[in-house]
Amino acid sequence: PPVTSSRKLVLLGESAVGKSSLVLQFVKGQFDDYRESTIGAAFLTQTIWDTAGQERYKSLAPMYYRSAHAAVVVYDITSAPSLQKARSWIAELQRQADPGITVMLVGNKLDLADQRQVSTEEAQKFADEEGLLFMEVSAKTAQGVKDVFDQIAEKMPIDSPAS
Ligand code: GDP
Repeated sequence: PPVTSSRKLVLLGESAVGKSSLVLQFVKGQFDDYRESTIGAAFLTQTIWDTAGQERYKSLAPMYYRSAHAAVVVYDITSAPSLQKARSWIAELQRQADPGITVMLVGNKLDLADQRQVSTEEAQKFADEEGLLFMEVSAKTAQGVKDVFDQIAEKMPIDSPAS
C-alpha cells in the first residue's frame, strides 16, 4: 500500500505580516524585501494554504481551514493590531475548525525587535491561555522558521492518511 499521506496546513493572519515570506524562506531559503503581498503561495497550494487577512477574503477562509490539520496564525511583532487580528483568527478556528487541529501562534519580523509593539510575554501568555504553540521568528533572517514547521510536523498524526 502507498505510504504517503497528505497533511494540510493553513497560514492565517493579517495582510503583510509575512505569511508568504515564511513559506518562501522555509521552502526555498529565500527572502525578498520587495515582494508583493499575495493571496496565495502557488508553489505549495496542495500543502499550504496561504490566506490573506483582508476582510474581503474572509468569507473564503472557512473552506481553507475547515479540513486543516494544523494552522499557523501569524502576527507581526511591530504591529499591535496584527496581534488583535491573530486573536480573532484563533477565536474563529476554535469555533469552526476541526477540534483536533494543531494551532501555532507565530510572531514574525523578529529582526525588527527595535520597533516591537507586542512583547514576548504578552503573546506567550495569550498562547498559554489558549493552549497554542508559540514562537517568535524572522522570515528575513530565517531565525526560528525551520522550528515552526518542525514543531507542526511533530504534532501531526501520521498513523492514518488524511481524508
Ligand atoms: P503576507 O501578506 O502575510 O503574505 O506578507 P508578505 O510575506 O508578503 O510580507 C509582507 C512584507 O513584509 C514584505 O515587504 C516582506 O518583505 C516583509 N517581511 C516579511 N517577513 C519579514 C521579516 O521577517 N522581517 C522583515 N524585516 N520584513 C519581513
